This record gives sequence, structure tokens and C-alpha cells, in this order.
Amino acid sequence: MTKFKRNIGILGAGQLGRMLALAGTPLGCQFGFYGSDPTEPAAILGHFFNANSQPLDPLVEFAEVISYESENTSVELVKKIAQHTPVYPSATSLYYSQDRGREKSLFDQLNIPCAPYRLIDNLDELEQAVDQLGLPAVLKTTTEGYDGKGQAVIKSKDQMQQAWLAIGERPAILEGFIQFKRELSIIAVRNADNQHVFYPLVENQHRDGILRLTLAPAEAISEPLQRQAENYMQALLDEMDHIGVLTLELFETEQGLVVNEMAPRVHNSGHWTIEGAETSQFENHIRAISGMPLGSTSPRQSHAAMINIIGEIGEVEKVLSLPNAHLHLYDKAERKARKLGHITLLANSQAEREKQLEQLKDWLI
Ligand code: AMP
Repeated sequence: MTKFKRNIGILGAGQLGRMLALAGTPLGCQFGFYGSDPTEPAAILGHFFNANSQPLDPLVEFAEVISYESENTSVELVKKIAQHTPVYPSATSLYYSQDRGREKSLFDQLNIPCAPYRLIDNLDELEQAVDQLGLPAVLKTTTEGYDGKGQAVIKSKDQMQQAWLAIGERPAILEGFIQFKRELSIIAVRNADNQHVFYPLVENQHRDGILRLTLAPAEAISEPLQRQAENYMQALLDEMDHIGVLTLELFETEQGLVVNEMAPRVHNSGHWTIEGAETSQFENHIRAISGMPLGSTSPRQSHAAMINIIGEIGEVEKVLSLPNAHLHLYDKAERKARKLGHITLLANSQAEREKQLEQLKDWLI
């Protein structure tokens, strides 16, 4: 039998690590997690190494390959680990993905359309950038923003100072406001043998900056549009020599696709693939980093949806009573705006999916 890397270390122990372990265990993989608390969602699915009391060494010794849950993982740390044990995606993918300025310059270099932007270090530069790009515009911290945090929309010049204070007066990027029809994302996977696979474009609906609903595949996506998104992904994967899953968030506009941002990891908008695709994003990530061939990304049914369970778990008996609904709970305590789980729906038509969504509307309000 070919020697695949089956001892897998993950930096982090949240729900992404949990779903990676749930996908990788049937492939014979064992997992080690480097987390901050033994009650985290992934900890029960492998060896748990406590970052508060232990150095990284035991994880590095256990693992044949290491991956991570967050694009905010330290590039220096990953470089250091990689001298001993391979880390996928590599420090290069992290370097670009964790800083919006670097990410945008990579999009420019590869001729991938994104919002017009200016890098900002102080209020004077913000004023100049507003003059150059016009309003409305979106001010975002260059690093560590997620789920809409570290961002402010500026609609008039008198909101500039307030926006600058709201993001914490930190290095930032000002982006022109994109008038989009829908928000889409695409997930792709590349392995060390340079095999690439792509999932279909999906539609993402957010509220308060948090993903609420993914419709998979997105309705009415033409073949050329899907191919264009795949071409952007292929260029990014190859340029970064990326191994593992890469996610790209996009805006669909009258003029075509405009890229928003990328994440070098499995993504919330790909959770539908657990039941909805032949091979889930989690399994394909494990396959890619452990040296296995990649699996088919074809949807199992024509229509799927993923609803996030946020803040409160709710009456999950309702989910369990539906034949084509699948419940995932991450074993996390209820807290406002926290992702606690998700529901996947599978359907054979748009009408059937609409009916199921109506039955689960408690989680969409
Ligand atoms: P992000 O953290 O970059 O994913 O942004 C969070 C959300 O803000 C996105 O999902 C969009 O709904 C919105 N957004 C971000 N950038 C822009 C932009 N340049 N124009 C319009 N809306 C944006």
C-alpha cells in the first residue's frame, strides 16, 4: 500500500478541526489538535495538546503532516514547523491570505478582478483614498477581520473619522463599494501531484456580517461563469503552490465576477458538501495534505442548502423529523452570534428546497 501521511496535526481544535477529523477517520487517519481548551469541539476526536500548558513539540512529533484552522496562524510559526514536518497549505498561502493588501496585490498580479482599493495608515491617507475612490466605500483592517468585524462602510465624508475609530485606527484598506447581485463562493482543492478539483459556485446570504444560508449550487450559473471562477482558482492555487482546500469569495455583478477575498482552508460555505457532494471539502482537504488522489466534487442531488445555527440551538427535533435534513452540532455553548452548528438540506428541485427552507425558517429569521 502506498504510504500516505495519516497522522495529522491541526493547529486549532474548533468545528473545522472536528469536521476534518470526522472526514479523515474513515480513511485511517489519526488526529492531534493543538488547542486552547480541552472542551473545544475537536478535542474528543483525537489527541489534544493544550497550547496553554504545552509547547508545540509533542504535536510536531506526533504528526506526519500539519494543517491549521485559521488564516491568522503565524507565518513565522508555520515556517519553523515546516523545517521539521510539512505544513499544508504552506506559509506562502498563509502569507497572502492573512493580509488584505498582499491578497489584493496577488489578485492584481494574476489579473483577477477585485474592488478598487487603497492602503491606509492614517486618517489623512483615508481622506485622500476617499477622494480617489469615491463613496460609498468599505474600510477594512488589513489583518484579522472576519465575520464582518474590523469593517465600516463609509457613505459620506463626515463618517470617515468615525469609521477610522471603529476599526481601531489600524493599518487598513479602503475598497470601492461593489454593487453586487449576489455573493458567491467557490472551493477548490489541489494536491502535491498537481491535481485540481473544483466544487460548483454557491450563493451565500449573510446577516450582520455572518453567513446564514448557502444555496448549492447557486441558481442559474452559466458554464462560462463557473469556468471563469475555476480559472481564477487555478491561477491562485498554482501561483502559491497551494496544497489543500482554498476558498474564494466573490461578488456577482452586472459586469461579471469580482473577487472579494480568499481563505486557505475549509470554509463555512462548503459545509453542504458533507452530505451534498460525492467527496466533502473536509475529506478532499485530508486527501490533499496526506498525499492521496482527490475525490469527485459532483453534487449528490441537484439542490442543497446549508443553514447556520447561530447563537441558540433551537428546536432541533424539527430538523430531525425532516427526511432530507442533516443536523450538525459542534458541541459549543450557546452565545450570541456564535456558530453552534449547521443544517444541510438535500432536494431534487428548487421548489422542494424552498419548501424545506420554509419548514426550517426558525433558523433563518
Ligand atoms: P469580508 O470580511 O471582506 O468578507 O466582508 C464581509 C461582507 O461585507 C461581505 O460578505 C459583503 O457582504 C460586504 N462587503 C465586503 N467588501 C465589500 C465591497 N467592496 N463592496 C460591497 N460590499 C462589501
